[in-house]
Amino acid sequence: MKRLIAFDLDGTLAESKQALDDEMASILARLSQVADICVISGGDWPQFEKQVASRLPESTNRARFWLMPTTGTKLYRFENAGWTPQYADLFSDEERAHIIQELRASIDRLGFTPTQVWGEQIEDRGSQITFSALGQQAPLHPKEAWDPKHEKRRRIQADLQPILPDVSVRIGGATSIDITRAGVDKAYGIERLSQISGIPKADMLFFGDALYPGGNDAPVKETAGVDCVQVYNVDQTKRALEAVILCLA
Ligand SMILES: [Mg+2]
Repeated sequence: MKRLIAFDLDGTLAESKQALDDEMASILARLSQVADICVISGGDWPQFEKQVASRLPESTNRARFWLMPTTGTKLYRFENAGWTPQYADLFSDEERAHIIQELRASIDRLGFTPTQVWGEQIEDRGSQITFSALGQQAPLHPKEAWDPKHEKRRRIQADLQPILPDVSVRIGGATSIDITRAGVDKAYGIERLSQISGIPKADMLFFGDALYPGGNDAPVKETAGVDCVQVYNVDQTKRALEAVILCLA
C-alpha cells in the first residue's frame, strides 16, 4: 500500500515556474486526506511557496506535506500554523564561487550565450546553483524552443562534469541545469525523506516528467528504486491522481 505520493514540480504538478492551477490544488487537497505528499524540485523555497504552499485550499491536510526545495537539500514542514525549515545543506562561499566561475566559462566555451535573456541566468540557492539559459524570468515560449531535445544541456553537462568532480550536474526544467554536491539528486532527497519520515521507499510512489536517462527525476527510479510514473504533462498527472485517490481512499 502506498503511503506517500511524491512529485516533481515543474512539468508534473504545474507548468514551468507557474502556480498550481485550481484543479491540481484541489486534487492535492483530496490526496492529502489519504496519503502523505512530497514535492521535490530544483526550485528554492520562495518558488515552492509561490507555486505550491500558497495555493493549497483550506481543506488541505498540510501536516501531511513534505516540501523539499533545491533537490531535497532543504525540507519544510507545516508546524504551528506555518511552513518551517527542518534542515538545509549549504555550499561554502568558496565552493559556490568556484562552481559559478566554471559554469560561466563552460557556457562561453560552448557558445551557448543567448542573444536575449530575461533576468539573471545564474541563481545561487545556497545548496544549489541553478543555470537558467534564458534567465529566471524568461517567458514559456522561448524557453520551450531553446533546448527541446536537451542537446545543448547535455553538452554543458558533458563539458562541466569532469571539471567539477565534487558536484552533480543535472538537466532541470525547460532550460535549466541544477548543480548540487556530488550525490545530491532526487534519489538522495527521497532516501533522506524515507529516513526522516520513517516511511519505507516501497510505500512511496513518485510522479515525474523527467524520468528519462539524464533527466533530473531519473535517480528516483534508478538509484532509490522507488516505483515511478512518467508523465508528459500536468493533465496526465491529474488524471493519474484521480485513480490514486480512489485506490487509497
Ligand atoms: Mg520536471
